[in-house]
Amino acid sequence: MDDARSLESICRDCGRPLSLHGEQHGPARCAACFDGFLRHRDAEFLSSYAELGVASRRIIAETSLRALVMAPPPHRKVLAMHIMEQYVQAAGDLIGLYHALRARGHTAVMRAFLAFRLDRASALAFFRDVRATPGAELLDALGIPRQDDIARRCPSLSKGDVKDLDRAIHQMLIDLRTTVDQGETAALALAQMAGEERTGKALTNQSRWLDTVGLRPDQVATIAIDERRRTVSLTAISVDERKLQKTVGAIDAMTRAAQNMIYAVLTVHQEEERAKSIVHGG
Ligand SMILES: [Zn+2]
Repeated sequence: MDDARSLESICRDCGRPLSLHGEQHGPARCAACFDGFLRHRDAEFLSSYAELGVASRRIIAETSLRALVMAPPPHRKVLAMHIMEQYVQAAGDLIGLYHALRARGHTAVMRAFLAFRLDRASALAFFRDVRATPGAELLDALGIPRQDDIARRCPSLSKGDVKDLDRAIHQMLIDLRTTVDQGETAALALAQMAGEERTGKALTNQSRWLDTVGLRPDQVATIAIDERRRTVSLTAISVDERKLQKTVGAIDAMTRAAQNMIYAVLTVHQEEERAKSIVHGG
């Protein structure tokens, strides 16, 4: 028994003793080794996210929109709100990625990104930042080369690759601006919705029973209890295919912004690794 405990109480990576604090399952590593473990995998985490997770909101939203066109009215409402939910989550993902990439000098990307939760402060900071910051400075903060500096920062890229990266960075800036163009009201709405349930038990066809304005027949809403204000808040949308198409378009822009951001960051990362291996005679 004592032996098993002492076996468990050393760091898997560096072998230093760990304090168990009486937990049944002690930590696998010391805090410093875990930090290093995560940081060491940031590039692979990003490329894995770029391969699959980054497009997940778009895939679900597009599929829901296609299904909605043929669906009976109650199903249309469920699918419409589901698309809205993907919009909120896509925004949370993009803002979280932006936040994590900017913080990568001191925090592992995987940790900052996965722990990120959209709230008022982070939504407003993102909208204000992107609106107020010139493109070149935005790129500096993200550690992405300015467009006139790509060839110098990434000397191993072919002319064609420089052109591709240039195009990706250009598109990323456009998509970021499109995302924040709706202003701070949109940021606040997003932040509020991010903390609420969109589908399932929170859905309603009618809101008059909540002592509030009634919904039109083409509308659907979600209910959330606001304990602070002691009210019930409603988020209503109308099931309008053209509007939902626009929402899917906005999800598409956010997805593309994230993809291009990762592409640029990984290109720079590869370049830095290459430079390091040359210095080390590899
Ligand atoms: Zn350790």
